[in-house]
Amino acid sequence: AKEAGRNTSRFFCDALHAKASRQLQLENLLRKALEKNEFSLHYQPQYRMSCRNDVDRSGLMHECISNQMIGCEALLRWNNAELGNVSPAEFIPIAEATGMIESIGEWVIREVCTQVRQWQDAGVEPFRVAINLSPRQLFNPNFEVMVYRMLRESKLDPCWLEMEVTENILMLDIREATEKLNQLRNMGVKISVDDFGTGYSSLSYLKKLPIDSLKIDRSFVQDLERCPDSTAIVQAIISMAKQLKLSVIAEGVETEEQATFLAGNGCTDLQGYFFNRPLSAKAFTAYLMSSAEH
Ligand code: C2E
Ligand code: CA
Ligand code: CA
Ligand code: CA
Repeated sequence: AKEAGRNTSRFFCDALHAKASRQLQLENLLRKALEKNEFSLHYQPQYRMSCRNDVDRSGLMHECISNQMIGCEALLRWNNAELGNVSPAEFIPIAEATGMIESIGEWVIREVCTQVRQWQDAGVEPFRVAINLSPRQLFNPNFEVMVYRMLRESKLDPCWLEMEVTENILMLDIREATEKLNQLRNMGVKISVDDFGTGYSSLSYLKKLPIDSLKIDRSFVQDLERCPDSTAIVQAIISMAKQLKLSVIAEGVETEEQATFLAGNGCTDLQGYFFNRPLSAKAFTAYLMSSAEH
């Protein structure tokens, strides 16, 4: 028994050690990632469904769903020579904890502004691009000045930029967050609450916060078919958004059934693998050019 105990603690010790050394390795490589140009952005399109009823030759009513691209979300990618592709779910928390997220986040905003300027110069019909913000970025005292400068340098109308913040960021410091978001919104930038429904914000706060839209979290969308609770939660979020005059979008839509349910219940803006995976800048640009031809 004594031997077994020793083995178990050795096992946990090794596991902890492996985790810690992976963290440390990521941290060290992350420090050089910006100067080595290892980051890139992928773009995932967002669509608006419009439902209309059609009568086919046999006289049956059909609900036709057509979709128009209304925007996209920029998602950070890190490719390192040693590690290959590392998921943002793994490296963003490290970047956040070490403070590196501030310079990485600044790179993301600059990259998006530059990219949007290129699309607009190429004659692409303008659309909104959403960026994910982490708490450190939003609460940095120079943040809004930096955003303002980048928008001006790339001669972009701020209305094409959207910032996604999670509920929990807002709850960290309601007063400060409200002030920050107000500054961004006064500039003309749009604000969206990401992963909505998973955090702890209350309705009374939601009413006071300067936000434009709610993004229904993927977990609820994915449980739609299986779990009646999720159906109720999704319907409640949609009606709440309508009451508060906020727009609402669902993420993580993977099936036609999910899309039909959401659109049928009043959430017509959708994003997910059912429509498109996040695409590299090159692939997304090609997609934009080919849609413009038709
Ligand atoms: P998020 O903001 O909730 O982004 C949505 C995530 O869901 C993305 O993962 C996206 O690729 C994935 N996704 C999209 N459609 C589907 C679908 O239909 N099914 C499933 N299963 N997944 C889908 P990704 O790109 O790995 O990003 C993970 C998280 O990393 C993001 O979650 C966001 O919190 C964070 N992140 C990504 N880019 C940035 C960034 O530039 N800055 C900051 N601060 N965080 C970022
Ligand atoms: Ca997001
Ligand atoms: Ca999300
Ligand atoms: Ca998320």
